[in-house]
Amino acid sequence: MLNNRQLFLLHLGQTSPAPMMLEIEKAEGVYMYGPSGEKYLDLISGVSVSNVGHRHPKVVKAVKQQVDSYLHLMVYGEMIQNPQVKYASKLAGILPENLSSIYFVNSGSEALEGALKLAKRYTGRSRIIYFTNAYHGSTHAALSVQGSEIYRNAFRPLLPDTVQIEFNDFKSLDTINGQTACVIIEPIQAEAGVILPEEGFLEAVRERCTRHGALLIFDEVQTGFGRTGTMFAINKYGVVPDILILAKALGGGMPLGAFISSLEIMSSLVNNPQLGHITTFGGHPVCCAAGLASLEVIIEEKLAESCSSKSQLFRKELDHPLISGIRGEGLLLAVLVRSREYVQYVITNAPRYGLILDYFLFCSNAFRIAPPLIISDDEIKYGCRQLLLLLDDAHKNVKT
Ligand code: PMP
Repeated sequence: MLNNRQLFLLHLGQTSPAPMMLEIEKAEGVYMYGPSGEKYLDLISGVSVSNVGHRHPKVVKAVKQQVDSYLHLMVYGEMIQNPQVKYASKLAGILPENLSSIYFVNSGSEALEGALKLAKRYTGRSRIIYFTNAYHGSTHAALSVQGSEIYRNAFRPLLPDTVQIEFNDFKSLDTINGQTACVIIEPIQAEAGVILPEEGFLEAVRERCTRHGALLIFDEVQTGFGRTGTMFAINKYGVVPDILILAKALGGGMPLGAFISSLEIMSSLVNNPQLGHITTFGGHPVCCAAGLASLEVIIEEKLAESCSSKSQLFRKELDHPLISGIRGEGLLLAVLVRSREYVQYVITNAPRYGLILDYFLFCSNAFRIAPPLIISDDEIKYGCRQLLLLLDDAHKNVKT
């Protein structure tokens, strides 16, 4: 008889050469629990998903209520499904006026696909501009605008007419011109190791797009729903895109993505051809019910507002000779250490210290701290104490 670890490796398609291999039986709030009662403080939220924590009672209630009414009914966009209508209306109510038409899909990559198609269709142009170290997903289109050659090269040919420019380089914005369909940007680059935009950079991108009739797409898949201290980075920087993509925390722990634009732009997918974008499961009613409940919790509990003091507490507590800096905003933090060997040691040994930590895709000398936004000050202090012990351990045992 094979055990669960063996079955996991044998029967679940793997792409990580070193998966975490933690078996989890239950998750509640900021904690996950293993089969023998192991308790782990979740410091990554399943990569910026569980902003309201695991199994928030209001999310669980909304899911149960929806399950009692209906599951899937029909492909997206045909029937009037109350959870979709309620959630889309709520989102439109908190977003800038032009972001009022919400197309629900299943994931971030799919939202990216929809957004690029929409920009090409609306502008009649094909050129897509993206940034160094950008991450927008793992499908072919998302790979085509990924800022890492290592991942892209292995899967060529990709989408034609994509141009990479330098994040935070004002001069490179000259590349945006009358042939540009769209510019896709993470307002704060997450997988690059939480790189903030320089003062005025997003405004400059916006200005250049407007001048040349190119659409500006913000990827707020990680920055959305309070994580960086405001509901969206749009609110933080006061720059409004033409298309917004959301996923991860959008579904409150359920799979959901969305590309969002004005009614005028979105309507270009209705004709020539009709049904310019189709999805079977996009906007699944259970996911929309969960997402709406989660958003209501974020608003009611003022979770975005709480991020700044929690972020400061992490920065204050994490004082250790191995840490060379902490970069980020709110509860999207990159802890920089001296070398990748330390990062690897810290992440792989974190469970022994009751912590769950993770890597960034494109930043080898930092690990991620992005806990559920509901994390309390005491939980932050506990997590930091454990992390300091783990860093001491790394200091002793890593040979560099
Ligand atoms: N955009 C960003 C900024 C992301 O971080 C991710 C996922 N890490 C995606 C898009 C893709 O989302 P998904 O994995 O749901 O396809």
